[in-house]
Amino acid sequence: MSPYPSYNRSCRLCPHTCGVNRSVAPAGRCGSGASCTVASVCRHRGEEPVISGQRGICNVFFARCNMQCIYCQNHEISRNTGAVPAREMSVEETAEEIMRVLPSCENRVGFVSPSHHAPCVAAIVDCIRRRGARPVFVYNSNGYERPETLRLLEGKVDVYLPDFKYADEALARRLSGVAGYPRAALDAIGEMYRQKGSPLWLDDAGLAESGLIIRHLVLPGFAEQSVEVLRTIARELSVSVHVSLMSQYFPPFPVEGFPSLNRTLYAEEYARVVEAFHELGFSRGWTQDLESSQRFRPHFHLPVSFG
Ligand code: SF4
Repeated sequence: MSPYPSYNRSCRLCPHTCGVNRSVAPAGRCGSGASCTVASVCRHRGEEPVISGQRGICNVFFARCNMQCIYCQNHEISRNTGAVPAREMSVEETAEEIMRVLPSCENRVGFVSPSHHAPCVAAIVDCIRRRGARPVFVYNSNGYERPETLRLLEGKVDVYLPDFKYADEALARRLSGVAGYPRAALDAIGEMYRQKGSPLWLDDAGLAESGLIIRHLVLPGFAEQSVEVLRTIARELSVSVHVSLMSQYFPPFPVEGFPSLNRTLYAEEYARVVEAFHELGFSRGWTQDLESSQRFRPHFHLPVSFG
């Protein structure tokens, strides 16, 4: 049975609102069909410590994406270049593969780049629960989503892990090809906040059981826009939310038109953003050391993508 009972004939899952029929063939801005397009199901130890723990999280990396960032750190799968063939999988097949990988991980499952497959995610969670497993489910997205779609996930997702990439709409258009990003991301994260609130609930081992963590990747040459992202979160949501400030950017390939995106982050750029984090009153979250750009490079052609 299709996991898209009401969306497959006129998809409006994300703010692109393409209105295309995905049940016939892959379509729309994300080029996705009605089944789960999966690049990899694997153990991943490179997330925040409360997410991946010692043993890593079982991540489901969906292929393709509703954003097309010109610097995408996961471009091998988000652009569907063919470097890693994606598999069209049913909900049951995806759940089966998760159940196979999960014993080697902490008892947690992450859905990565899931926005264009949100109904699949809801169905996979139900399928795994029907099998008697009770992992923590983490929804790791780019933030370009619709609140209506996220309401499908209420009671199914335990931890929301969205990006808030841009406070500047024009920059979002130029770097990621999307319209209205700041407002869309605020509305989406606002819905996640409504479902979860500010507290991040941890289990006895210190792993997140429930809550919201907002991620922001600081881009080389764009430290001031990162500060504006923090100002926007402080003004429109709360300084009590958890924020993960990531310094791990690396140039995935030569990026045309934006010379600063062809290098890693300078220490002073990152320090400026961390300083603003504290000045604005944030106190919960994570920072990274600058060597992260070497450690967290994804390699989707390897069987275990992140080791
Ligand atoms: S999920 Fe894909 S097809 Fe649906 S509205 Fe978004 S980009 Fe378009």
